[in-house]
Amino acid sequence: MGINKEAASVNLLPGPVPLSATVRAALAGPERSHREPAFQIDLERLRDDLCGLAGFRRDAGRGGADVQVLTGTGTAANDAVAGQLSLRPGPGLVLSNGEFGERLIDHAERWRLDHAVCRQPWGAPFDQNEVTNAALAAEARWIWAVHGETSTGGLNDLRMLKAVAAKTDAALAIDAISSLGATPVDLSGVSWATSVSGKSLRAPPGLAFVFHARPLASPGRLPRALDLGWYAACDGVPFTLSSSLVAATAAALDEVEAPQRFAEVAALSNRLVAGIRTAGLVPFAREPWLPGVVTIVVPPPHTNEDWIEALATAGVRVNRSGYLRERSLMQFAVFGRATAADVDRLAGLLRRFAGGG
Ligand SMILES: *Cc1c(COP(=O)(O)O)cnc(C)c1O
Repeated sequence: MGINKEAASVNLLPGPVPLSATVRAALAGPERSHREPAFQIDLERLRDDLCGLAGFRRDAGRGGADVQVLTGTGTAANDAVAGQLSLRPGPGLVLSNGEFGERLIDHAERWRLDHAVCRQPWGAPFDQNEVTNAALAAEARWIWAVHGETSTGGLNDLRMLKAVAAKTDAALAIDAISSLGATPVDLSGVSWATSVSGKSLRAPPGLAFVFHARPLASPGRLPRALDLGWYAACDGVPFTLSSSLVAATAAALDEVEAPQRFAEVAALSNRLVAGIRTAGLVPFAREPWLPGVVTIVVPPPHTNEDWIEALATAGVRVNRSGYLRERSLMQFAVFGRATAADVDRLAGLLRRFAGGG
């Protein structure tokens, strides 16, 4: 009975996202050692497809631009980037306008990176002049920012960030964890970027991806599991890697690469915004928005917890993270496998909650 209820429920979580039948079948395929040729073929396909999706020219044969596949979540991928930044000279600049920007600052602090911070209020876009001035004032040798700010539903301007990095001669590191797969992302010109299997790429969680524009050194002072240079030196597989996750993610990427995918996510997102407005509510973030995620403020006297429980009772599952609760925010993610009917069902419930007092 629990299983039936689960099947009938609507998943509007940023992750885990529901898996397609094809991805489930790939996940259930034969397990392989990461030293077997068949595994290597799947992994190479996955890395090619990831680079293709990111507009990132793969140069693996010559040890240059590539993507490394780690076991872990987005946090591990961002720690691997922090490790790379720790090998670079000079101070950096970390940008924040939401929870995941704050986490990049926390990564920088834990890695004791010399860095300055440029903050905007949650959900407010960055201004090009402000970021440029902050980078110049800090004499930043690198800039680290989130692309899709999943917490607020805002999309930071990647082209602007590239322009600032070019103008200030800084390397650019980007967290594209929820944007890659939800919307076109062009990582060309970016030095490091991160993504994961389990969010907008619609695979199970567990694989972390780090794109890098240049060959990587392995000076032997980074933690072993986070030493990207060591991955690159070992053909991408220094340690055990799950063949099931690699096969499932490769299958998910085939679906994400479908030409209509981005238009579908955008249309669903627009429908969600329209539905939210009919309930008298508004998106929390200022435009531009991250396609596939809409965050709203719960109007008092209601609370985030009331609405999350009321949605759960009605079979709609949404993110329960503490950072949302603290600010009375609710987040709806439709970059998974949500449908127009799911979005309409949510909008109807929100109308009832907001209008019903
Ligand atoms: C989810 C997320 C993370 C953290 O990823 P985990 O898989 O939870 O470790 C980091 N940045 C962004 C933008 C995210 O959406």
